[in-house]
Amino acid sequence: MAKFSYYNFLVENPDGGYILFNSLTKNIILMTADDREWMGAVDLKNVDEGDERFQTLAELNFIVDDDFDELEYYRLEWFRSLYSSGILRHTVILNLACNCDCPYCFENKNGQFMTKETADAYLKWLEPQVKDIKYFWMSWFGGEPLLSKQMIEYLTDGILKLAEKYHFEYAACVVTNGVLADADFVSKCERLHIANLQVTIDGERETHNKYRFLKANHGGTFDTILSNLADFCTRVHSDTASILRVNLTDENYPTIPQLLDEIPDVVRENCVLLLRWVYSHVEGRSPGVEFSAGKKGTRPYDNLAPLYELAQAKGFTPNSFDEGPSCNFCECDFDHAFQINYDGDLFMCTHSMDKSEVIGNVYEGFRTQGNLTRYAKFVNTNPFGDQECLDCKLLPICKGGCRKARYLGHKVCSDVKYSYEPYIIEKAKKATLENQ
Ligand code: SF4
Ligand code: SF4
Ligand code: SF4
Repeated sequence: MAKFSYYNFLVENPDGGYILFNSLTKNIILMTADDREWMGAVDLKNVDEGDERFQTLAELNFIVDDDFDELEYYRLEWFRSLYSSGILRHTVILNLACNCDCPYCFENKNGQFMTKETADAYLKWLEPQVKDIKYFWMSWFGGEPLLSKQMIEYLTDGILKLAEKYHFEYAACVVTNGVLADADFVSKCERLHIANLQVTIDGERETHNKYRFLKANHGGTFDTILSNLADFCTRVHSDTASILRVNLTDENYPTIPQLLDEIPDVVRENCVLLLRWVYSHVEGRSPGVEFSAGKKGTRPYDNLAPLYELAQAKGFTPNSFDEGPSCNFCECDFDHAFQINYDGDLFMCTHSMDKSEVIGNVYEGFRTQGNLTRYAKFVNTNPFGDQECLDCKLLPICKGGCRKARYLGHKVCSDVKYSYEPYIIEKAKKATLENQ
């Protein structure tokens, strides 16, 4: 016997007919009004299994066996991707300093840098962790990590020695404002195994320069960032695409179409585009200021969808936040993921880096069993004890949301939860474009 998947969504297609989407498989098909009528009327307990519509929907798992527990299956996939990746992921905060001074920055930039002593302690702490891994993925983070280029070289040399000794693959990304990703740095990226950059833009040239300016002289950074990113995309070839993140605010929202036109072709073709609302942070230098409350509103995806659609039409590859490993909402969502501060303190998450959240350091490891317990609790945090998530048809897309929020006893739902229709319509358009 068969049943319709719990994770099916049926929405009206603005181009006519309907779109059937499944959040568990991410399969999507276009349907006619007749198909929809058939779906509404069919009795799956007595259906003719030779029926063409039945067969198509069953092949694509819109119809599943009556005894298939989809949630149990997803739970297995979720935990499997959390615990058995064989991948070590570290984020190293090389400094808490920056050459820019963005008004929404939430980092407590105290001007401190990682010392050689801490770097050596880090490499010593790292060694036992890499003995049985297949892959080590590093994110160089700050502050502004490219203010610490020599330290990146020093640590990379140490990591590559370990890679040779224990036979694992190594690659890194740099989360940077891009200003210092100059030609000299780009020429070293291959040797430093830097596979991609994550760079952020704040709107078209004029708006961006108003937000993301140099601290020293308030000079604009737009042209330097894009030209550096274009150089990186031209000269560094890797399997993982760089990320061009565009911060969205009420002020810059109308300028995004113009920005998309200003982005060089080589960036367009080689980067994944990520559009993100700028949130207010209590830790930031503008606490309480709402940068995007108007456009984000209560249905944050409504105003994202048209931009993604436009970007796609202009040849960009939008970020597929709903794909990837089943548990992966953010980079913290893996066992064996650590965030290491410039002074060697260990954190579970790069958001805020408050001293109260330290779970150990590279000199002494977890230090206390209490810290080990906090780490274990953070890694083990999952949405499967939350009835609202268990009932939520968007669970395989949201994946449980921000781990830190859940660890602290609340949750942050996916933007899509409040407006899934534009998300599905955009997915259908993307699928249609890809099939053409
Ligand atoms: S570039 Fe990044 S770290 Fe620097 S001020 Fe802006 S948001 Fe903060
Ligand atoms: S705050 Fe949440 S989403 Fe952000 S890095 Fe931490 S766990 Fe990830
Ligand atoms: S966090 Fe919200 S959107 Fe995500 S699964 Fe739970 S209820 Fe659904």
